Amino acid sequence: MTPGRASLVIGAATVSGGGQADDIAVINPADQQIVGYAPAAGEQLVDDAVQAARRAYGDWSARPAAERAAHLSVIARWIRSRAGELARTLTLEQGKPLSEAASEVSAAAAAFDYYAAEAVRVYGQTVPTDSRTLRSLVIHQPYGVTAAITTWNYPLGLMAWKLAPALAAGCTVVAKPSELTPLATLDLIRGAAESGLPPGVLNSVSGTGAATGRYLAGHPGVAKISFTGGTSTGRQLLELAARDIKSVTLELGGHSPMIVAADAPLSLAVPDAVKRSFRNAGQLCNSVNRIFVERPVAQEFTEKFAAAAARLTVGPGLADPEPDIGPLTSAAALDRVERHVADARQAGAEVLTGGARPPDGPASAGYFYLPTVVRGGDGLLMLREETFGPVAPVVVVDDLDEAITAANALDFGLVCYLYTRDLRTSFTAAERLEFGTVSVNSVGGGDVHYPYAGWKRSGLGVELGRQGLEEYLRVKNIRMEIGYP
Ligand code: NAD
Repeated sequence: MTPGRASLVIGAATVSGGGQADDIAVINPADQQIVGYAPAAGEQLVDDAVQAARRAYGDWSARPAAERAAHLSVIARWIRSRAGELARTLTLEQGKPLSEAASEVSAAAAAFDYYAAEAVRVYGQTVPTDSRTLRSLVIHQPYGVTAAITTWNYPLGLMAWKLAPALAAGCTVVAKPSELTPLATLDLIRGAAESGLPPGVLNSVSGTGAATGRYLAGHPGVAKISFTGGTSTGRQLLELAARDIKSVTLELGGHSPMIVAADAPLSLAVPDAVKRSFRNAGQLCNSVNRIFVERPVAQEFTEKFAAAAARLTVGPGLADPEPDIGPLTSAAALDRVERHVADARQAGAEVLTGGARPPDGPASAGYFYLPTVVRGGDGLLMLREETFGPVAPVVVVDDLDEAITAANALDFGLVCYLYTRDLRTSFTAAERLEFGTVSVNSVGGGDVHYPYAGWKRSGLGVELGRQGLEEYLRVKNIRMEIGYP
């Protein structure tokens, strides 16, 4: 199959070259073959896209919310009508097994449906004043042009979580997917344009972060930056935004602990630990990065967890039968995993299962790594830094106090998982844990219905849920004196 060439949508135009010397070659991480090309948008194209979004803003923001909602519903239908193709593209560019890619596609469609419903519920307030003749109304209006910049682990899902609320709020958007995985996202944006979204409302630019991303985020015509990616990139964007006092929403790195109390239902905790440590090859912002287990159940939990991890199959995401785990998305991701495991070995940790790339078979050609469970060791790198790979360290603790203190000790605060049968422990621990989400006896996460916020260095602002829409709206107070002569 000849690799296809994706195109950008800029205003009413479809653009197939980026204006920079080289287009971006997108690599299949399962076999390192090129699966497509995307334009590397230079400064001129980024400017064109922002100007198109600015021109479209007046009309789009003034439309009745119900009209914007109708457009979002059309996009949701378009996504569902192309679900098979989009899922296949996601697997080819990102690596996850096809059924997980299909779930990501349906989550993207669900985001457009959810915010279509929310668009018409942006209510204001009337505020009592201290005068008989003064009236005060509080209304919410969109920021303007939004730069939506996302990373590669859930390319379509993460972008949908930005596009849907931004468009529902009345913002217009210039979207920049990751240079590693731009293809499905560019397809979605082309589909939205072809489904009748007015020109300029949703534009796309692809390219590297250092060039295209930086031009976009630093463009004075952009009023709002909504970003998902690494903490160090988030910090750079915050600095860029400070220049023009732009509004910023950041969804950044995590280092999610799982706490397993002595009374935890292990028949639930073990499979959930497997799911959240190894799904998407551990490339989840809310992946379980460290497991604190109370001593009385530590041995049973660890043995069952390692045995279940060892049973997981690893292979190309399009293989039949489908594997449990695909490859890591890039050589850099694989390098980091290898570095963290080597560090653990050096620190005296026991590698209970995995700890290597698959030795042979189809999985040996790509960026694959076996699901790995580590126990013990002192000062492990993987207990401080996000591995972003299929590696889970287990640490034994004497009591829940020790687990909570250790969980709160890092500068990350995205998600903490807690397993216990005790309702009082659930509440008191959940209140003490310094995370935007505490998930008790469940590893569900990133659901469009609930707010998802990173605390500390895991982010700024909120994504998803009703609060995720408010991020794209600013407050205006209309004061009206009606006692004029
Ligand atoms: P990254 O931060 O390097 O890149 C993300 C995006 O930013 C890409 O589109 C990239 O091109 C762009 N970019 C990079 N440098 C830029 C710059 N200087 N200016 C403008 N744009 C720039 O991505 P990464 O670190 O490989 O992503 C993985 C991280 O994302 C992990 O830490 C993970 O936890 C995090 N993540 C967080 C969430 C969440 O919801 N909190 C979700 C998924 C992933």
